[in-house]
Amino acid sequence: MQICNTIPALRQLLDEYRKKGKSIGLVPTMGALHSGHISLIEKAKSGNDVAVCSIYINPTQFNNQEDFEMYPQTVEKDCELLKPAGCDVVFVPSHEEMYPGGFHNDLTKLDFGSISEELEGKFRPGHFNGVGIVVSKLLNIVNPDKAFFGQKDLQQFLIINKLVKDFSFGVELVCCPIIREKDGLAMSSRNSRLSQEERNEASLLFKVLSQAKEKLIFGEDVNVVGNEAKEKIASNKFFKLEYFEIVDIKSLKPIHQIKGLEDIALFVSAYLGKARLIDNILINATKCSDN
Ligand code: AMP
Repeated sequence: MQICNTIPALRQLLDEYRKKGKSIGLVPTMGALHSGHISLIEKAKSGNDVAVCSIYINPTQFNNQEDFEMYPQTVEKDCELLKPAGCDVVFVPSHEEMYPGGFHNDLTKLDFGSISEELEGKFRPGHFNGVGIVVSKLLNIVNPDKAFFGQKDLQQFLIINKLVKDFSFGVELVCCPIIREKDGLAMSSRNSRLSQEERNEASLLFKVLSQAKEKLIFGEDVNVVGNEAKEKIASNKFFKLEYFEIVDIKSLKPIHQIKGLEDIALFVSAYLGKARLIDNILINATKCSDN
């Protein structure tokens, strides 16, 4: 496994692979890797000759400075996990490498339309602009055949899908399932911020999502199901609910009447102590890769 810190070094290495006819799969991450990330690396490796993992805590996608500063940095440990997973190349650039002019300057503004205004868009202004910029940079730098993302950040995946289509990036996107702890908590680098007491409560989000999904499948009223779910989270003293929404998978707009169960996704975001947790569930799990 080779580690590159600069764009020219990475490009040179990947050019050599390409000359030998090797296909390249990219997994963009911000590090503090866990089994969720590793599942993406394994997918990248099984579907390509060369698996590349980028580790970069992208400042322009943080709308909260404290969240950025608290973000765990564990590059050495990350590399120990990446190697046995089959990762061939790790790209760990500096801020200067990624944003030579500084990242506080006026950034290009991307407009993803209404899908970026719902859900996370309401609570994290500027977040998807930063994601769009850094993912565009990484796709241009690596020029992968395929890029792998998690359903954990489903709205992000839909936005990157739009970005790739609108700018004709020559990459195939793959959406991979959410990897969870035994109790259902979606794995996340931010889970390390939970105290033991908070961790014991953390599976509530997945339980509420799963129960709401079952109720919708049994034909219960979507508004009643949504309100019950919100109430369950809001009444737990450890959580501060941001949103629980039952939405149309294409527009991400809330639905108030069910036409087809196929096209529904349930999204939640809540603070548990200092950790902001997000999770989602699809009624039809194949929908993520369809988009
Ligand atoms: P991050 O390092 O949080 O930016 O995540 C990098 C990639 O890993 C993103 O595509 C995430 O959606 C994905 N990811 C994060 N957590 C999980 C998880 N629990 N299961 C599957 N993929 C995940």
